[in-house]
Amino acid sequence: MKVQSFETHDYSLRSYADTLRAYREAGYAVTSFERYLAEPRERHMILRHDIDNTIEQAARVARIDAEAGCTATFFLRVHAQGYNLLSLPSLRIVQEMEQLGHEVQLHLEGGVCGWLGGDDLEWADRQRAVFEAAVGRPLGGFSSHEPARMGGMEFANGLLERWSDSVAYHAYETRFMMPDMKYLSDSSGRWREGHFGLWVGREPLMQVLTHPFWWFEKVPAENY
Ligand SMILES: [Zn+2]
Repeated sequence: MKVQSFETHDYSLRSYADTLRAYREAGYAVTSFERYLAEPRERHMILRHDIDNTIEQAARVARIDAEAGCTATFFLRVHAQGYNLLSLPSLRIVQEMEQLGHEVQLHLEGGVCGWLGGDDLEWADRQRAVFEAAVGRPLGGFSSHEPARMGGMEFANGLLERWSDSVAYHAYETRFMMPDMKYLSDSSGRWREGHFGLWVGREPLMQVLTHPFWWFEKVPAENY
């Protein structure tokens, strides 16, 4: 617990990187979903990043993760107004993430049918098609963006079955949540149960979700 005596637990990327190192030093594997499923360890943190609107901040976090000896799963949207998954800069970032050992999957969302017609299922298929066109391989997993807007877990579980040809998981499956796994998230820029740095060594299996948007080098204004 000496770690806590000198570490500051805030939203600086310094604090973020120090926390990852603390988990590694405490014997945790810190990996993507894909790597956890292939080779689960006794102490294992699945590191997840949902990329809601800006991909450049995700690239910065991807490099920090790799430097700390960690891999992560980055979930990317196809409907984001802040980035176009098919643009060259985005595709270069995807490529860099994969070269660093990270996993890139779909951050799936619902609701556009409320304006455009059709239903969430049809639009989910369309999102998958665009994602696969962008990355050039079959989808392997997804996380739901604002799941309550899209039929919650029931919808996600149904989709998992529908897409079982290549999709192995979705991030909110019960096996990745409490009580099987400690789940911590920085959603809305607020850790409901304290910064993830306060949890080192307390739970053997964890899923930690961060949104790179909330994390800054010097000041929050870097990001928005
Ligand atoms: Zn989201």
